[in-house]
Amino acid sequence: MGLVVLLDTSAFIMGYEAGDVDAEQYTVPAVREELWNGGLPRIRLDTALRTQKLRMLSPIGRYVIDVENTAVELGEMTALSHADKELLALGLQLKAEGKKPIVVSDDYSVQNLADRLGLRHRSLATPGIKRRFEWVVYCPGCRRTFRKPQPGGLCPTCGTELKRKPVRKKPAEGRMDASRGEPGYEGSQPL
Ligand SMILES: [Zn+2]
Repeated sequence: MGLVVLLDTSAFIMGYEAGDVDAEQYTVPAVREELWNGGLPRIRLDTALRTQKLRMLSPIGRYVIDVENTAVELGEMTALSHADKELLALGLQLKAEGKKPIVVSDDYSVQNLADRLGLRHRSLATPGIKRRFEWVVYCPGCRRTFRKPQPGGLCPTCGTELKRKPVRKKPAEGRMDASRGEPGYEGSQPL
């Protein structure tokens, strides 16, 4: 027991319905801030908070520092958003409190870091269909895209702060479930 689910921004974007899941669930304020006010993912999050299916907590600072140190070690510092760091830090904190956190994220860098921090994680992909989003770093200013995070998280061309988005699900076992189609930002998929 003591199983707790931690939800990152991609979980809400992918249609995670906290109300359908019978477990203690957490997120952090920075995740909520990453979701566009008025969008369906933000409405899902707010509804889950209101119905107390979800708790929103800020991690204690020293756990954020642990996450940042590990991110630097792994060369993932620029790939992680503020929200990613806070969520992983909350995972460490809950683990230290004796709970068993699972981080739900389709973000490769978050999964990678969770591994190193000794936190369990899972993606939202349907069980049995192993595939994952590929993320692209893009510039909201000049629309250039990059395969890798750029120094300082800024566009080398125009200096705008870069963002990430999932571009495609990658079938890991040579099959693609046609019924799921392309990734939908507003899709409603169960966990
Ligand atoms: Zn740019």
